[in-house]
Amino acid sequence: MNHAAGLSRRRFLGLLATGAAAACTGGGGDSSRTSGTVGTTEPPTTVVAVAAPPDPGLVTNPFTLGVASGDPLPDAVVLWTRLAPQPIGGGGMPAVDVPIAWEIAVDESFEFLIRSEVVTAALADAHTVHVDATGLMPARDYWYRFRVGDYVSPAGRTRTAPEAGATVDRLPFAFASCQDWQDGFYPAHRHLSGEDVDVVLFLGDYIYEGGVDRFSAVRQHDGPRAETLAAYRDRYALYKGDRDLQAAHAAAPWIVIWDDHEVSNQYGGDTPLGQQSAEEFTVRRAAAYRAWWEHQPVRLPPPNGADLQIYRRFDFGGLLSVLALDGRQYRDPAACGGDIGITCSAVDDPARTLLGAEQESWLLDGLEASDARWNVLANDVMMTNFFVELGTSGVVNPDQWDGYRPARDRLVEGMRESGATNIVVVTGDIHAAVVGDVGTGEDDAVATELVGMSVSSRFPPDLGPSFELAASLNPRVRFGDAAVHGYVVCEATPELLRADYRVVGDVTERATGISTLATFEIADGVPGAIRRD
Ligand code: FE
Ligand code: CA
Repeated sequence: MNHAAGLSRRRFLGLLATGAAAACTGGGGDSSRTSGTVGTTEPPTTVVAVAAPPDPGLVTNPFTLGVASGDPLPDAVVLWTRLAPQPIGGGGMPAVDVPIAWEIAVDESFEFLIRSEVVTAALADAHTVHVDATGLMPARDYWYRFRVGDYVSPAGRTRTAPEAGATVDRLPFAFASCQDWQDGFYPAHRHLSGEDVDVVLFLGDYIYEGGVDRFSAVRQHDGPRAETLAAYRDRYALYKGDRDLQAAHAAAPWIVIWDDHEVSNQYGGDTPLGQQSAEEFTVRRAAAYRAWWEHQPVRLPPPNGADLQIYRRFDFGGLLSVLALDGRQYRDPAACGGDIGITCSAVDDPARTLLGAEQESWLLDGLEASDARWNVLANDVMMTNFFVELGTSGVVNPDQWDGYRPARDRLVEGMRESGATNIVVVTGDIHAAVVGDVGTGEDDAVATELVGMSVSSRFPPDLGPSFELAASLNPRVRFGDAAVHGYVVCEATPELLRADYRVVGDVTERATGISTLATFEIADGVPGAIRRD
């Protein structure tokens, strides 16, 4: 990252001095304030690092899966790691809870620690750690790491959100999704780790649950289809062993949602697409949600059986709100057998839901209450109409919002009535770049949708012609390209939101380059992205 990493030591000591003065006089006096954008008060002092807890008998370095941070607030961020000296096959830790030290600093060289404490990496959590590092300053970079015995984790850089309601000139962020291990390496993550962004939205399909693909020449899963907690944990351990993915996590805080492959291909609610019974699937979903919770840097309680509320909201000053959605847990099962094909009457059944009634109300209430200039919906499946009319019938992907058309109409009307400005839906799932308008009729867009390709997952080649047809026939689709991989870098300002579609070359090569496929701009108050290159 090109952050101004490092305040010079002299400037930093100056800041410390003003903070210390404030602490002596009871704090909060105007004398403690500095001008500029670094916050209204400064850290009062630095702390001394706690001693690392003793090595519990580790055979080798336990920090094999990197570090991560997420769910940034103005005064807090969640820090994550997992102790796993032998990542596959359970992690290789002794079967006891293990104390672990963490520290967070305002500088990359950890000279100026803000907090340093010991917490427990619990056996019951597969020795994962979620630290909610509180008491931080808004809109600031921090660096964090973990220690056990003589082992020190890699350091991660994170960043807090701006203060509630603060005037923010620009907020750079990125979004990405869909990283099937067997379809390619992660050059997208390597390049993402070098982008200067304040937060990354990850929109689902972080793991793929399938078994070994013997035809994958790139790399293969190392076990059968995941259905148990042990298998899902191993799948996260496999993916998180990738150094490029680790670099992207270590570079910025992430806000993570899930899609289907964190559990099972195209499941809806408690119904799988395949052969499992409802009872079996409930047990499986509980295992999958638990492993997801363990391995993501989220500020959430552990799942209650097969239930975990992950929809949540983040504000970045008065400029941008992120409403992170769950498009899987509460939806009705897929219509029309679940596969892309001829449409069926269920897609027009007004009783069916994608978000569930409670989340839908939460979202619309949140939009209505929002004062943010930009309201970004972190979303899993495509919302833009991609239905292909064929005479009296049509072709539909029933897994996306096209399979829940009355629910989409209801949501669009709710968005319109909410009065929220500049709704931008950012989406994953389909492994293609799409830019679309979200609306009900022909020319009444209420939101703009940016669909962000995939990190590595392949677009099914046999569906290429259908994709081209849907993209060209739908007046709401402004752009479509199903042959690209990468991520999207956005910059929100009060006047516009810019989106650069950053694409990598061949994902069968780790070292492939990066380029910008297309740039789109959405102007304040005008739904619809305009191409600018
Ligand atoms: Fe996917
Ligand atoms: Ca998906």
